[in-house]
Amino acid sequence: MKNELGITVKKMENFSKWYDQVVTKAELADLRYNVKGFLVHKPLAVSAMKKMYYYFERELEKRGHKPVWFPAVIPESNFKKEAEHVAGFIPEVIVDNACRQQKLSERVALRPTSETAMYTMYAKWIRSWRDLPLKLYQSCQVWRYETKATRPFIRGREFYWIEAHDVFATRNEAEKQVIEDMKTTKAVMHEIFGIPFFQFQRPEWDKFPGAVHTYAADIIMPDGKILQQPSTHMLGQNFSKAFNIKFKNKNGQEEYAWQTCYGPAIWRIFAAIIAIHGDDKGLIFPWEIAPIQVVIIPIYKSQNKDLVLKRCVEIKDKLKGLEVYIDDRDEYTAGWKFNEWEMKGVPIRLEIGMKEVETNTVTIFRRDEGRKINVSDANISEYVEKVGKELSANLKRRAESFMSNMVRSAKNLKEVREALKKGGFVRVNFCSIDEDGRACAEKIKASLHADVRGKRIDVDEKPEGNCVVCGRKAKVVVYIGKSY
Ligand SMILES: [Zn+2]
Repeated sequence: MKNELGITVKKMENFSKWYDQVVTKAELADLRYNVKGFLVHKPLAVSAMKKMYYYFERELEKRGHKPVWFPAVIPESNFKKEAEHVAGFIPEVIVDNACRQQKLSERVALRPTSETAMYTMYAKWIRSWRDLPLKLYQSCQVWRYETKATRPFIRGREFYWIEAHDVFATRNEAEKQVIEDMKTTKAVMHEIFGIPFFQFQRPEWDKFPGAVHTYAADIIMPDGKILQQPSTHMLGQNFSKAFNIKFKNKNGQEEYAWQTCYGPAIWRIFAAIIAIHGDDKGLIFPWEIAPIQVVIIPIYKSQNKDLVLKRCVEIKDKLKGLEVYIDDRDEYTAGWKFNEWEMKGVPIRLEIGMKEVETNTVTIFRRDEGRKINVSDANISEYVEKVGKELSANLKRRAESFMSNMVRSAKNLKEVREALKKGGFVRVNFCSIDEDGRACAEKIKASLHADVRGKRIDVDEKPEGNCVVCGRKAKVVVYIGKSY
């Protein structure tokens, strides 16, 4: 019974199968919806992601962003205003031909990202330096016609994210915004969700379509592959010129505005949380985003039932402000419930039976360590909260130690090849992340099926020696990895 219901593969032995089992068996999503690349999100996943949205939105608003909702459809003519952007996105957006039959004047696309929706309106809203800075974000779905294999929460034709689009009077302010966005990623994804990352400046050949520079957070998944997380883009004046976003400066002269955009994909960060914190039994939610933080399991024989249940309710009342669920379903055994809530990642389980009732105690099980202890119920609320926070801190520490063990240095291509077999990042000296380094990156891609992810922004690294590919003097240290 347990084998059929529970996770039957070990995470580090077959990550891909483990991940699929967790998504289905822990009831995060139902993949049987009959449109390829689209899935139905179930309550456990939605409740967790709503909390994730909350933390990101709170951080964005703390830093001066305000929320907006823009339409999901974008007219084709908007896309065509920025040359690189159209080249990057038109081939993969989902264009709704049905609209033509309804006699709309032009074709519309479901948004793959909202630059071209929002910037036509920004051009109407921004008149003078007094209107700047303008910092807006929306939490929404976007659609991309992915041709690569789709995976739940990792890559889909529909996904959930936040996009922030900011406008400034000066280049300097826009550059500061990009740094602020990276701090937001750190404050939420690493500090609260416990997912460590490296922050890269992407090479010239791997930028967001239309951007001057792209900066992206990369994480390492348990199978050693790299997964891109929030990226922030210095757009310069590329879009303001294309969309005619101008303002009168303090001297009354018209200038094009400077822009940035930032896209934390809640969906993908959720995938990272499943993958990195989970273990062979299933999910482990960090305390802060757990849909159920504490599950209380009553353990009784029929003659004690009322007494035990009464104590469970008393304990729940003491845990005000936390997400607590008393699992008093009669049709399942206590052992069955233990397995289910462990698989579903509940951080803390309280077991309450006659022994606990008689001694004024509760038995606490902590999901990450799998240990039980019996404690007095006197200060149960403070105690449970302390344990919850310790669990999050422990998940974060584990993730950091996994990541630091997945970075290796290599001095030549042979070493790069060997290091890539172990997964994670390979740190090398490289000629350049400007256009003149592109040929070397293409050689790595062709011979090793790996990507040059870019130059670290979160640390200052000086190259010593020569490019691992061409042998020219290295101008930069880059990280290579196999990506999703
Ligand atoms: Zn080179």
